[in-house]
Amino acid sequence: SQDRVFNFAAGPATLPENVLLRAQSELYNWRGSGMSVMEMSHRGKEFLSIIQKAESDLRTLLAIPPEYSVLFLQGGATTQFAAIPLNLVSSDDTADYIVTGSWGDKAFKEAQKFCKPKVIWSGKSEKYTKIPSFHDLDQNPDAGFLHICANETIHGVEFKDYPTPKNKNGILIADMSSNFCSKPVDVSKFGVIYAGAQKNVGPSGVTIVIIRKDLIGNAQGVTPVMLDYKIHDENNSLYNTPPCYGIYMCGLVFEDLLEQGGLKEVEKKNKRKGELLYNAIDESNGFYRCPVDKSVRSLMNVPFTLEKSELEAEFIKEAAKEKMVQLKGHRSVGGMRASIYNAMPLAGVEKLVAFMKDFQARHA
Ligand code: PMP
Repeated sequence: SQDRVFNFAAGPATLPENVLLRAQSELYNWRGSGMSVMEMSHRGKEFLSIIQKAESDLRTLLAIPPEYSVLFLQGGATTQFAAIPLNLVSSDDTADYIVTGSWGDKAFKEAQKFCKPKVIWSGKSEKYTKIPSFHDLDQNPDAGFLHICANETIHGVEFKDYPTPKNKNGILIADMSSNFCSKPVDVSKFGVIYAGAQKNVGPSGVTIVIIRKDLIGNAQGVTPVMLDYKIHDENNSLYNTPPCYGIYMCGLVFEDLLEQGGLKEVEKKNKRKGELLYNAIDESNGFYRCPVDKSVRSLMNVPFTLEKSELEAEFIKEAAKEKMVQLKGHRSVGGMRASIYNAMPLAGVEKLVAFMKDFQARHA
């Protein structure tokens, strides 16, 4: 609608307009219950129907096999950086980390407190613009798992395919926070997939964990109860009070994604948006630049710089005047970043591209 901006923020990020309007219409009195979702007991039949529907729709969307549990947790993806080693290995065990950006690095650093992880590949010296070729990876056969960040939100680097884990249990783990539900994924390739909701599927406060059931139940003795997958699995994510309203919002987003035709259709739209924006950058004769290797450019987060870097502040200011906001790059890399998650309409990317061309014509 006219009073909304195109919000290119990396997260919390834009949500589908129809989902917001639906939530608005249900806010005061959820489906005749006489109360809002925020006021419901998490053990009442109304909320149980909400969380069960959310799980079942997510299972449909990602074709999650029955031998996997779906958990709705709190603490953000950052909490999972600790929960993963605490639940899956002992403190003496090693684990392999591929570090393709800041988030993978943070996951590795947190794991150092709970096991003996090793970085088997890092893109840091090339400023996190690459994904390694998988057969060159020096995986440790004794590692408890192999960890990747499927999409690096800050650097805009995305795995288009996944390495085969060669550790003793054959476990691959992925932080999918910033590309969760942006395309179909073969869940059976992973031991654990985890994601904070606040980019593609809902508000902040919900963290989704999809875990193969046989990996549950081996947490280290010191594991806090809130980080123990077994506790949450046994209690269907209702061991303590869950983030009820956030789970409800995720459920509305899942319904919306199914109505769009599922993740294959969603991926098609995301590819179209990504192509449009990357083409505009690549066809600008160097006026705009994206440093990321073409084959691994993220369809969700598009970082770019201006050749005339002194114009960047002006670019961001003028874009904001035209209702395109949050285009400033992460403070660690500078430049610009356009996050174009599922809920960013094609019209938003078209408007940005038109603005970029106009800005170039005025400043080239
Ligand atoms: N991993 C990735 C890929 C992220 O983008 C983020 C948040 N930007 C995090 C982890 C941390 O998530 P949270 O803030 O939910 O802890």
